[in-house]
This record gives sequence, C-alpha cells and structure tokens, in this order.
Amino acid sequence: MIKTDILIIGAGPTGLFAVFEAGLLKLKCHLIDALPQAGGQCSEIYPKKPIYDIPGFPEVLAGELVDNLMEQIKPFQPGFTLGERAETIVKLEDDSFVVTTNKGTRHNAPIVAIAGGLGSFEPRKPLLENLAKFEDKGVAYIIKDPEVYRNKKVVIAGGGDSALDWSIFLADVASEVTLVHRRNEFRGALDSVEKVQHLKDAGKINLMTPAEIVGLNGKDHLESVVIRKTGDDSAINFEVDNFIPLFGLSPKLGPIGDWGLEIEKNAIKVDNTLDYQTNIPGIYAIGDVNTYPGKLKLILCGFHEATLMCQSAYQRIFPDKKYVMKYTTVGGVTGFDGSKKEAPKAVVKAIE
Ligand SMILES: Cc1cc2nc3c(=O)[nH]c(=O)nc-3n(C[C@H](O)[C@H](O)[C@H](O)COP(=O)(O)OP(=O)(O)OC[C@H]3O[C@@H](n4cnc5c(N)ncnc54)[C@H](O)[C@@H]3O)c2cc1C
Repeated sequence: MIKTDILIIGAGPTGLFAVFEAGLLKLKCHLIDALPQAGGQCSEIYPKKPIYDIPGFPEVLAGELVDNLMEQIKPFQPGFTLGERAETIVKLEDDSFVVTTNKGTRHNAPIVAIAGGLGSFEPRKPLLENLAKFEDKGVAYIIKDPEVYRNKKVVIAGGGDSALDWSIFLADVASEVTLVHRRNEFRGALDSVEKVQHLKDAGKINLMTPAEIVGLNGKDHLESVVIRKTGDDSAINFEVDNFIPLFGLSPKLGPIGDWGLEIEKNAIKVDNTLDYQTNIPGIYAIGDVNTYPGKLKLILCGFHEATLMCQSAYQRIFPDKKYVMKYTTVGGVTGFDGSKKEAPKAVVKAIE
C-alpha cells in the first residue's frame, strides 16, 4: 500500500502546484492520474497553445507550464500512479482514507485532495461491433509508448491534432502509417495538416479521406481493418498490426461521483469561505473539479485553492502545532532531497 500525507487525485496544474505548497509545509504528496502523463488538460488537450493569464508569465505554452511545475516540485519528490483511475474510497477507523484505482493499486493518506478537473478523460470510441475484443490486442485509444509501434503497420483514425501529430511522429517509427478520416478537411493546426500532406507526397503516410473504419478482423490479435470510402459501397480489407482511433477524450466526473460528495452540475461543492473542504471532512476538492459561488475555472484559481487547502490539511494532520507562514524569499525552499534554495541573509534580515 502506498502511504503519503496528501493523496492528490489528478495531476493537472492544480494537483502539481499543491505538491509545492504541501512541500513548504513538509507534507509529502502522491498523485494519481488516469492519463499516462502529468499536466491534465494542459498536456492532453493544448500543450502547444500559449496561455496569457499566468501571473508573471506574459506568455507561456501550456506544455512549458507543466514542465516548469514539474521542475518546481522536484525537490519535494512526489510519487505518481499514472495511467490509473481512482475508483473507490474507504474511510478507516483512524480517520485516514484508502483510495484504490481501477488497476487495484491502493493508497493510504489522512488527507485526500481531489484535483480531478473536468473528471477522468474517457476516450471516445468508434462504434464497431467487436471493438472490445481487440482492446490492448492491437487496438489502443491513447499512445503511451510510441516504441510499441516500431516497424508495425499502423492505421490511425481521426481528424484532430492528436491524429495528425501522432501520424507525423509514427511516420518515422512504424513501417507503414495510414491516416483515415471521414472528411477531407482536418480540424487540427494548419502546420500539422501541411506536414501530413508533405509526408503523404513523400510516400511516408497513406492518407485515406473521406473514409472510415467499418470493421475489425483477427483471431486473438487484430489482423486487419475494413475501410470504406465515403459514398462508395465497396470496402477494402486492409492488413494491419495496430488500429489507433484518436477521436478525442470526453471528460466525466466518473467514479468520484459515487463517493458520497455533494455534487452540483457535475462539480464537487466545497466550502470556499475557508479551505475548499467538501462535505466529507478530510476530503478537499480544488481546481476545475469544484464549485462554489463565483467559481472560475482558471489555472490561477486552482493554484490559490491548492495553497489554502494545504494550510488546512496541515492543521488537520497536526492539530496541536502552530504554523507560522514564511515567504519563500525569507524561509527559502528546502527539498526532501536535501536541496536548498536559500534567501540571501541580507534580504532575510531586511524583511524580518
Ligand atoms: C483549450 C483550452 C484552453 C485553455 N486556456 C486557459 C487559459 O488560457 N488560462 C487558464 O487559466 N485556463 C485555461 N484553460 C483551463 C485550464 O486548462 C483548466 O482550468 C486547468 O487545466 C484546470 O486544472 P486542474 O488541475 O484543476 O484540472 P485538469 O487540468 O483537468 O486535470 C485534472 C486531472 O485529473 C485527472 N482525473 C480526474 N478524475 C480522475 C480519477 N478518478 N482518477 C485519476 N485521475 C483523474 C484527469 O485525468 C486530469 O489529468 C483552458 C482549457 C482548454 C481546454
């Protein structure tokens, strides 16, 4: 069982920043995320888009913001359970919680901070009769490790950034990449559409539009997909090793919705007059996942909520200790790895 002080569900920007604020209070964190990487919406939906309303950054790419947050929390050595969805929660006699994921990993902590954003992202799946039979046997909805596709014949379906970007990337990895989309126009960035066109002209990507996958065949593993050109009744059987439908991810509050928390419009109600605690003492909800009067779903609001949550969590864990807040410019930052960022003595003296 993984034990920690604050168990954070969701490794989006809010969850990541909570690790830093907890670290300043010498509290250890562990994060669970259903996605294979940290960063939440910033990494999964818009890593290359600039953000203009992060204080102190006139402009920062969403992916860069996540990289910076990961760098900032490194000294506090958080643990990660990635690619697993928090499924159930049980309260123990000592008032701590055990959270178990869909893969059976168990986590124990006195504090649970739900930073689940819009919920766990579920892949949108094509409507194909025997799809489930081939899941993890040639069919995947998220590319976790591109090396899996080295020297393989791959068919990708979709018309957004994900389908375009992975087609471009896998063109150098797979033995053959075929991109199938039901329209002639793509929804992704113009630059990526142009790159796919160049790779097609260079014979490195097969482009099939407008077309769609209408069937899957194979014994124990996927062996071929059936592709039908739109407006054409005839279909071709196309031999492949892997089929990757990238139709986007739809967010759902998911199993957290059944944890006995007060929910309003698919978000968790919290006490915003104090500490972002839910109706269950010891369980907090921060960032996009919560709701209260005047709530704004913005990254900077998540950072603020994470900060207040950590102060309250400290008081819950150490009811008898008095915490005196110090600016990092005065107290410095001491990581759990022994690393130190100390304020110059003269500055400390001047402020104190
Ligand atoms: C296109 C776009 C542009 C945006 N631009 C801006 C902007 O310019 N400025 C701004 O401030 N905001 C912007 N936002 C909003 C911003 O991205 C969100 O406010 C922010 O991502 C919220 O962070 P979060 O950590 O609370 O949640 P999220 O980023 O949604 O992360 C939540 C994480 O929790 C995980 N999760 C949920 N449930 C579970 C579970 N049961 N088990 C395990 N993991 C779970 C999810 O997989 C996800 O990774 C934009 C959003 C989009 C989509």
